[in-house]
Amino acid sequence: MTRKQIVILSVIIAVFAIVYFLQRKRINKWVLTRVWDIQTERNIKSLHPKIRNMAKEFVNRAEKEGMKVRIHSGYRSFAEQEKLRQKYLAGEGGKALAAGHSFHNYGMAADFVEVSPQYGFNKTYPKSRWYKLGEIAEKVGFKWGGRWTGKNRDYPHIEKTFGKDYKQLLALKEEGKTIKDVYPRV
Ligand SMILES: [Zn+2]
Repeated sequence: MTRKQIVILSVIIAVFAIVYFLQRKRINKWVLTRVWDIQTERNIKSLHPKIRNMAKEFVNRAEKEGMKVRIHSGYRSFAEQEKLRQKYLAGEGGKALAAGHSFHNYGMAADFVEVSPQYGFNKTYPKSRWYKLGEIAEKVGFKWGGRWTGKNRDYPHIEKTFGKDYKQLLALKEEGKTIKDVYPRV
């Protein structure tokens, strides 16, 4: 190596060190809180800011237990909810509440499924695995739809509503008490 190359290399290393030092909080946060799956990352970002870390913790704890979980649905706009509702009423889709009635419409609910090593939507998927995942979700602070009974039972669904019902959340939205015009301030 020539003296010139050594100088250039030192400068490059120094620049990296300075950038890391200045951005270390952001870099550490990004590295430490990532989940295994890009689609899950994206759907978690759509959730209410107060529950994003909980959702990450759920996915990462499940992974530690050997179950790769995908969050396949998070926030849904009122318009998207209305479309699902119409499909459901026409007998074409799964059960969907009216727009504004679902906690998904406030970013406070998510739907998950195990995708590896087993796929949760297979007919042969053991119920015990839903329960294992539901319990992990509950441990990090979610309510799990697998506890509901009868037709309401909803294994993939988790929610965190801070004690609010949809009417209270709707009112907060209508009063403009929101974060980024989307999430109610709770
Ligand atoms: Zn749901």
